[in-house]
Amino acid sequence: MSYLEIQDLTQSYQNIHVLEHLSINVEEGKFISLLGPSGCGKSTLLRSICGLLRADSGKIIVDGKDITYESVQKRNIGMVFQSYALFPNMTVYENIAFGLKVQKIKPDEIKKKVLYYLDLVSLNGKENRYPNELSGGQQQRVALARAIVNQPKILLLDEPLSALDAQIRRRLRGLIRELQQKLKMTVLFVTHDQEEAIAISDYIYVMNNGKFEQSDTPEDLYLRP
Ligand code: ADP
Ligand code: ADP
Repeated sequence: MSYLEIQDLTQSYQNIHVLEHLSINVEEGKFISLLGPSGCGKSTLLRSICGLLRADSGKIIVDGKDITYESVQKRNIGMVFQSYALFPNMTVYENIAFGLKVQKIKPDEIKKKVLYYLDLVSLNGKENRYPNELSGGQQQRVALARAIVNQPKILLLDEPLSALDAQIRRRLRGLIRELQQKLKMTVLFVTHDQEEAIAISDYIYVMNNGKFEQSDTPEDLYLRP
């Protein structure tokens, strides 16, 4: 049974079609990489799934429920972008708490959650820092905590490691995989780095020109002779 189903999704900007009749079925708890050249539509797909774009046609179904026209808030799908996209005038704590404050959650409950997720990304003690006082890797860990503090079942990662240097990239990759397994999230991870996709995913979808060209396990796609 698939957890996330995309059926025949078409998505365009003005009159330019980026995705045409795209379909994918993802099982619950899997780590999927979307691999493909710049401009092929990977970000567009993630933005449709989390509700930042409205589908032209087709369906997005999560756990049997059609969410195609659901608001971003109601979908509760976590998202991390390549550029950390933190609020520069808010502390680490406020950045992570932001999505909780718009709901009616008690302050002490919010505090408990923020500190728990801060600990999960190994940033204890950094709650009063501002984003520009943190390294790139640390900022991206804040972005990750902010994306998961609402306990989404689906996490979308749009080249979250691309702006970081190699050593930090590998470490953060490990952290992302760890969190995915611990919190049992279904993850779609966009990258243009084949080695990264092989290292991190259960399944790889290769995308080109708004279409999936191949999909398989990393072993079957790249590692078997
Ligand atoms: P990828 O994530 O694979 O690099 P994108 O989904 O960002 O690809 O972009 C797919 C295509 O859509 C590209 O041709 C890009 O120029 C175009 N595109 C992306 N965002 C917009 C936008 N806001 N308005 C118009 N065209 C866009
Ligand atoms: P920076 O971007 O500031 O260099 P790093 O990502 O290199 O930050 O990590 C800083 C600290 O965070 C490390 O000293 C390490 O203890 C902790 N850390 C990073 N990744 C992990 C991980 N996957 N598991 C546990 N701790 C980690």
